[in-house]
This record gives sequence, C-alpha cells and structure tokens, in this order.
Amino acid sequence: MTDQASAAATSTLEKTLSVLVVEDSATHLRAIRAILHGKGFDVQSAMTLEEALNRLEKRDIDVVLLDLSLPDSRGIDTLKAIYSAVPMVPIIVLTSTEDEQVVSEALQEGAQDYLIKGQLDSHLLIRSIRYSMERVKSQEALRESEERMRVLIEGVQDYAIFLLDRDGRVVTWNSGAEKITGYSAEEIIGKHLSHFYTPADVQKGTPDLGLHQAVLRGRYEEEGWRLRKDGSRFWANVVNTPLYDTQGRLRGFARVARDMTEQRAAEETLRQKIALQQKTDLVEVLQAVTVSINRAGSIEDAVSTCLKAISSRTRWTIGCGNIVTGEAHAECLVTKVWYFQDEKSVHADDSVLQERLVSGVGLAGQAWASGKPVWIGDLSSEPSAVNQWLCEHKGIKSGLAIPVWEGTKLLAIMELFSPENEKPDQPFFELMANIGKQLSVVIERKELEQMLISQMQELAHSNAELQEFAKVAAHDLQEPLRSVRGFVELLMRRYKGQLDEDADRFLGFIYDAVQRMEQLIQGVLEHSRIRTEGRPFQKIDLNEVFKEVVSNLQVAIDQTNASVTSDELPTVVADPLQMVQLMQNLVSNGIKFRFADKPPIIHISARRQEGDWVFSVRDNGLGIEERYLKKIFGMFSRLHSKADYPGTGIGLAICKKIVEYHGGTIWVHSELGKGSTFCFTLPADR
Ligand code: ADP
Repeated sequence: MTDQASAAATSTLEKTLSVLVVEDSATHLRAIRAILHGKGFDVQSAMTLEEALNRLEKRDIDVVLLDLSLPDSRGIDTLKAIYSAVPMVPIIVLTSTEDEQVVSEALQEGAQDYLIKGQLDSHLLIRSIRYSMERVKSQEALRESEERMRVLIEGVQDYAIFLLDRDGRVVTWNSGAEKITGYSAEEIIGKHLSHFYTPADVQKGTPDLGLHQAVLRGRYEEEGWRLRKDGSRFWANVVNTPLYDTQGRLRGFARVARDMTEQRAAEETLRQKIALQQKTDLVEVLQAVTVSINRAGSIEDAVSTCLKAISSRTRWTIGCGNIVTGEAHAECLVTKVWYFQDEKSVHADDSVLQERLVSGVGLAGQAWASGKPVWIGDLSSEPSAVNQWLCEHKGIKSGLAIPVWEGTKLLAIMELFSPENEKPDQPFFELMANIGKQLSVVIERKELEQMLISQMQELAHSNAELQEFAKVAAHDLQEPLRSVRGFVELLMRRYKGQLDEDADRFLGFIYDAVQRMEQLIQGVLEHSRIRTEGRPFQKIDLNEVFKEVVSNLQVAIDQTNASVTSDELPTVVADPLQMVQLMQNLVSNGIKFRFADKPPIIHISARRQEGDWVFSVRDNGLGIEERYLKKIFGMFSRLHSKADYPGTGIGLAICKKIVEYHGGTIWVHSELGKGSTFCFTLPADR
C-alpha cells in the first residue's frame, strides 16, 4: 500500500488518535514515528514501564504499541501491568521474533494484535491499529450486552436460569434459582446437578439422562419432582440446551427451570374435579338406568332404556343393543334395538331388525368371541357395512361393544358409538359391567314373565274350557233328569201301594237320588256362573245383605231357635246377589252343623285391616278337625254324612270362588267340638 492509500485509510478515522509507543529502543521508536507521521496520529512514547504507566494515567491514549522487553519489566508481565491499568485501551505487542509461545500468551492476556518490529510498514501498522480499536470496541459492546444479559438473568425471580459445565456441574446461578431451590450461588456453584434430584432419580441416572437427551435432540424438556435445599419437593419444568464452542465442541448446558408445583396442584385439583364430575355423571347414568330399566315392559324396552340413559348422558351418542334370540355354533340370531341421541329411539328398519351375528366378525362379533368388552378407536378401519354407514352418515369415529352374560349364556351385546375418539376408562367399564348385570337380571326376569304369562294364558284358556264344559254338562244333564223325575213322580202317584213294600221303598230311593242329583247339578251350575254371569259391582250396605239373609233363613232360625246377630257392617263394592249367597252359605252352615242339644248362636263381625275389610262368621257348632280346615273349601268335600246333615259339599267352594272373584281370601279357625269361625276379606277401597 502507498503512503497516500494509508493516509486515506487513516482519514476514515474520525479524530487524531493518540498512540503511546512503549519502546526502549530509540531506533524502533523513530521508525514508528516515521511511519505514522502525517497520517493523523499523535505519537507519544515511553521508554520504561513506569513511564508508560504514568503516561497512561491521563487516560487520553487511544492505542498502545508495546515492546514487552523494557528496562524495568520483561515479558508477559509488562503486558499484564499495562492491561490491568487500561483494560479498555487496545494493546498491540511489538516483538522482535515471531515467538509463537509469547504471541499466543500475549493474545490470551489481553493483547489485540502483535507486530514484528523488523517487518513494519505503514499499511500493516495502521491496519493493526484500526483493527485493534474496532475489536476492543466490539468486545466492549459484547461485554456490555453480556453484562446486561447477566443482570437481566440474575434478576429473574420466577425462573432458575443457570449454566452447567459439560459434566453437569453448576457454573452460574441466578436469583430465581436461589429462590426456587434455596441454594445460594456460593453453596451450589461447582456442585453436580444431581443435588436437585431425588435419590431414586439419581439411582436411575435421570440427571445425566436429561443432559444426554439435550445433546441428542438439541433441546430437551422434562418435568418431574426435584428437591430443594431443605429436602422438600417441587414439581419442575426444565429445558436443557447444549452449548458448543466455535469448533463445535460441547462446552456445557444452559438450563432453565420453573417451579410448577402450584400449577400442577391446580391441574391435579381440576383433574380430580373432572374425574369426580365424570363419576357423578356415571352414577347419574346408573341411577337413570336402574329406575327405568325395571319399568320396562319388554326386553327390547329395557335395552332401549339403557341405551337412551347412556347415550343421552355420555359422549357415546349412538347405541345399539343386540338381543340374542337364538344361538348355534359360531352364529347367533339377534334383535337389534338402535338409539340415536339426535332422533327418537328407533328400532332399526325391518331389514336389520333381525340379524345374524358371526363370532369374531364386526364389533359385536369380536366382543362375543372374546367374551370381554372390545373397543375400536378408528371404526372406519372396520369393514362392516353398518360401521361404514355410521362413519359416513353419523360422523362416528370410535365404537365399543360389551357382552352381557348370564353365567355362560350370552344374553345381549351392547354397542356404543361416539363421534369423538372416545376411549372408555375404568369407571366407565365398571358402569357398563353394572348395567350389564342389571340388564341380565331384567332379561332373565322378562323371559320368566313371558313364560309365566303364556302359562297363565294357557291355564286361563283351559279353565274357561273346563268351566264351559261344566256349565254345558250340568245344563244338559238337567233335561234327562227332569224327565226321570217326572216319570218317578208318575210311578209313585199311580203305583204307590199297588206293588209290594220293597217296590215302594225303591221308588223312594230313586226319588231321593234324583233330588240329590238336581241339587248337585244346581250347585255346579251356580259355581260355574260366579265369574261368567256375575252382575256389575255396586256399592252394597252389608247390613241390608245381613237382613235379607236372616229373612231367607227365618224358617230354619225359628226351627232351631237360633240366634243370628251382627255388628255394624260396612258398605262394600261387590256383586249384591253373590254377597247374599256368600253370607247365607256361611250362616246356614252355622245353623246346620250344630249340636242337637244346643241352639245355634251365630255372630257376624267386621274389622278394618289395611286396605281390606276382614269379616268373621262365628258359630258355636260342631267345629272341624284341624286336618280338614283347608280341604272343606274344595268341591264336593264333606265331613258329615248326608243322612245326618244334608248337603252337596259345594257351598264352601262357591263361597271361596265368590271371595276370590272379589279380590279377597277365605279361611277358617276351628277346633272339633268348639265351634268355628269362618273369615274372609274384601277390598275396602275398590
Ligand atoms: P255342605 O254344607 O253342603 O255339606 P259345604 O261346602 O258348605 O257343603 O261344607 C262342606 C263341609 O264342611 C260340610 O259338609 C261340613 O262337614 C263342613 N262344615 C261347613 N261349615 C261348617 C260349620 N260351620 N261347622 C262345622 N263344619 C262345617
């Protein structure tokens, strides 16, 4: 470079620069002065260190050219002395040889550049001065910014921000780190980061693992329990970042940690609240199911009710119940009941109402095959047509199938579908297991009910047939009997006394038998008419009924000198004629089955017991052996000979049928020889 060019370069500097040349050789000093002369430099000089330091005290020197070998100081110490006096003034070392050792030492100790004395030219020198000044300026700017950064970081309270060396030992510490962990900088700097970890984590190697991951990934975020100085725990969120030098060698790590204990506690509380809410919701579902499932009229209703209760209260918005109606080998026939939250409960159309389920195929088939609930997160991957339809038309994403068992018998498979990627959790499975149990009980009960209903229908049918038969038979028997009676009477009128005595007696027997036959037929007819030919129920004052009975039996009462009394009787809703029949049968039995030497005393009373009236007809007659107390209410059962006590054995059977027809029951308390009390109930509030 020419002198003009150097001058031009120097002119870019804004002002005259003061250069202090510290050099004990006058020759070299002169040479430098000569080079810098006229190029905008104010060159000053010092021959000794002491002189130089004095000169520098004035603080107006912009750059120092320093020979390290002075009369009063040698080598690197010279540099150190100058540098510590004016650390902000760039120092260019003048050396006579290119001694690498000295040069690198000088650069490490604060020199900005070095120049070899014998090889100086204006270009080299001016460029070195300029370069050194720029470097010091940028170093200063860097230092200032680092300082600002340091102050900033140190002042951060909520974050622990610190550096670790490559082995994980603490190098820097900020006040946030102190606040969070309780360690002061003096206590922790130089210590390994495993101080913050629990013994269990240290044993697992967690501290080093975090650093290792940071190296592998370039940044590693972790969360976990850490220890404070006092041994208490805090939940930390930590970000590790590896730091490299310019050669790409790992220098250490920057670590930023936050104390998340409170947030975690808040999150935990929120999570618990949500879990509790979900549990409450599930309990509500269970309550709803329990209440409505028992009211269901049929198995389909029960299943539909369950699905409605679940679908309307959870995110499983569509439900399908597969009720097993037949099972053979690996297939079973099911009735499908669908529930869509957005529509009313529907039974699927006829084409899918009855469906064949194949073990292991489709969601329900898989649940059947495994015997356990099956969950499919992505239902679109399931090839079944129904699933595809649900995904396309109802936006369904996930599905769940739960088999309902009664022992080893598969009763139903409940399917639930959700437009979310809903995953059932343990409480939900427990809920479904509970519902499944209830459902199995209801299904079993409904099946039993169904069986009972059909048996009752059969029974009612055969009963009606039997009654019709008895009625027809009794009715048809009357006709030939009437004719027998007519001819016997004719025979008796015309031939009595004309044949021998035996013939007269035989005719008498035939007549008695006919009469008895008539009574029996009459009894059977009466019995068969109770349900079929009863009158409409109406309010009846039983005191009136009692009066009518006494009047009907007046002859017998008079003949036997009987006493027939009653308490005040209530009004009931009943068939009036049947009430007379009932009371009259019981009172007349009381009169009939009396001791020959004791006039009968019969009393009727009534008392209220819950929703019923309980009536009792008490007599002082023969009484009944305990073993016959139930038997006497059967058709044709009699305990006494017809010669002593005439009768058909139908009276009490008729009483029983009347009472039961009115919704009551009849029974008797008695002891042989001690009278009897016949009791019966009638509903008080019909
Ligand atoms: P019947 O009076 O025509 O014999 P019931 O059906 O009225 O037929 O009575 C059946 C049997 O019960 C009677 O034959 C009698 O042996 C017994 N019985 C009924 N009422 C009384 C009574 N009040 N005291 C003792 N025994 C009675």
